[in-house]
Amino acid sequence: MDISKIINKGLLTPRSTLSLYSQIANLFAEKIQNRILPAGSKLPPERELAVLLGVSRTTAINAYRRLEEQGLIITKIGSGTYVADLTPPLQPNPAVPWSQLFTPSPNTHLASILRELIASATTEDIISLAAGMPDPTLYPLKHFHRLFSQQSSQLSGSDLGHIPTEGYMPLRQALAARLINKGYAITPENTMIVSGSQQGLYLIAKVFLEPGDYVIVESPTYLGAIQVFSAANARLLSLPTLSTMPLDLLEDYLVRYRPKLLYIMPTFQNPNGRVMPLEERRELLKLAAKHRLVIVEDDPYGELYYDKQPPPSLKALDPFGGVIALGTFSKILFPGLRTGWVVAPETVINRFALEKQYIDLHSSNISQKLLFDYLTEGLLEDHLDTVRAEYKKRRDSVAGALHRYCGPHLTFTLPTGGFYFWCTLNQGILTRQLLHEAGKTGVSFVPGEAFYADASGSRELRLCFTTHSEERLLEGIKRLSTALQVLVNSNTGSHVRPAATPII
Ligand code: PMP
Repeated sequence: MDISKIINKGLLTPRSTLSLYSQIANLFAEKIQNRILPAGSKLPPERELAVLLGVSRTTAINAYRRLEEQGLIITKIGSGTYVADLTPPLQPNPAVPWSQLFTPSPNTHLASILRELIASATTEDIISLAAGMPDPTLYPLKHFHRLFSQQSSQLSGSDLGHIPTEGYMPLRQALAARLINKGYAITPENTMIVSGSQQGLYLIAKVFLEPGDYVIVESPTYLGAIQVFSAANARLLSLPTLSTMPLDLLEDYLVRYRPKLLYIMPTFQNPNGRVMPLEERRELLKLAAKHRLVIVEDDPYGELYYDKQPPPSLKALDPFGGVIALGTFSKILFPGLRTGWVVAPETVINRFALEKQYIDLHSSNISQKLLFDYLTEGLLEDHLDTVRAEYKKRRDSVAGALHRYCGPHLTFTLPTGGFYFWCTLNQGILTRQLLHEAGKTGVSFVPGEAFYADASGSRELRLCFTTHSEERLLEGIKRLSTALQVLVNSNTGSHVRPAATPII
């Protein structure tokens, strides 16, 4: 580049108040900023520049120094002086302060437990006994493949439009018929399809709870319910229900706090597996009727019994119409269907539908139609027979393995249905320590604290026995026992209690 065509002597004003070196620097600056001298252009050495402009070498040096200070040129030692790259570095978008924009959310002790759980499940070969999942290899895939292809070839445009928020009427009818068979005094209008019973719980909280309202929950209870009620800013009253239900304490709560709801799982409770005896169900309903207490009965596991059939549900025995029942196909078929139901008086269903519209115009047509076909072909009963038989075997294997490998260090009651073993560690071992150690041996579970509204449960844990094959379950229990042994050894000589006889 012939620099003399861009910058020359004629452009300088010797009698200006501005020094010569400043004038030279300004001339260069203007040409550089206007890209007349593009980035990377080589500039003449100081000596040449001085000659070109008829100034002293010192003036040329000072001009370059000024330009360098301004970041317009760079000097590469041994190479020369160059125009700098003025393209501004890409500024990342100013970060949006997301967390400041969020509405307040309850940060309960559960959040940290779940974080710990997720962190411990990062090992590839982890055997998770944590999630409450059916075994995917038992999903009735053959039937669903067939129903899928049958359905997709017959789908019309109207099948893909909107349906009522309360759900696909043929499915509501089929469901109501099933429930009537189980003793429910209902019509299809009393049933509403929801995207999983978790959504049903959410709707209940949304429709009934204001901040500060009291809700009675079993202690321990389902983690997802604690979260939903806490998010509604309800105050939770714990009702310990491991052995018998303390009806006198319940009545005390009813009189003292006038709670809006009692949330309860009377059949194969999650996590403790308890089944409420028939007489106790009747007593509870009598008390609820007397105080006009609304009972939310959550029953995802009632059909998964491994010994004898459990007593009728509270809803089937409901003498006063105060029971709202929740159910789901997530445990008996597969969770990806996202299809559950709520049963309640019609006025309540209408309000649920209004509330659901804010978040979900209706649950998926495809899932509902598939399920309807599956139910009307009478396939569910066979499937239930299959999974009951398989899960019973797994339950027995896990019980045996727990005795054999972990016997001295934990106690449990044999679950007669559902998905879980609820175990208590002997004194001296904390579940959180065990979870940490189990992460290293490659097994995970849910620590007991997750199931309590009041942060108790530090020595309890829940193991799901349905997700994996017997072989893998066995391996999981062995890994658990290795983790337990590490803790026991590190506690030896301190306060580990001798083996207690497992209750089975
Ligand atoms: N209630 C209970 C007691 C549960 O265990 C679960 C699933 N873990 C649910 C409700 C929610 O199930 P879903 O939303 O999949 O129907």
